[in-house]
Amino acid sequence: MSTLRLEIVTPEHKVYEKDVNMVVVKGVAGELGILPNHIPLVTPLKVAPVKAKIGNTNEFIAVHGGFMEVRKDKVVILAEAAELESDIDVSRARLAKERAERRLAQKQADISAARAELALQRAILRLETVHEREQQHRNQ
Ligand code: ATP
Repeated sequence: MSTLRLEIVTPEHKVYEKDVNMVVVKGVAGELGILPNHIPLVTPLKVAPVKAKIGNTNEFIAVHGGFMEVRKDKVVILAEAAELESDIDVSRARLAKERAERRLAQKQADISAARAELALQRAILRLETVHEREQQHRNQ
């Protein structure tokens, strides 16, 4: 099966670099499945899990927005932050989610509410990414 190289890079480090069979992302216009030899493309990404398909297994990476550039045999994702599913601390994400929800429940339309909204989005993404992996294990 042919492969393409997937790289996920943040300002701090390279989070992921592997040869994969397919990459599935959520672009701003919807879900995109990228196979080797895809036409070149650049798109902003939604805050969503990225799926890397390698043979019969899928790996998930929490990607906090950013951009994807597709070249012939390479996909580069540049994001402000990204975490491998295996690096996600679920209880930390649950606590962050509860904290953000509590702040939002106070209904202050100010900067702290906007911050809480972003923190909530990050926590949900982390939990969603772990959930995707668990679903995948259940289906195997
Ligand atoms: P928290 O309130 O728990 O710190 P946060 O969303 O404010 O969460 P960020 O500022 O987005 O945290 O991230 C700070 C660093 O911690 C980043 O390197 C990020 O990858 C990492 N990180 C945050 N939450 C988790 C988590 N649940 N599991 C693993 N790494 C995390």
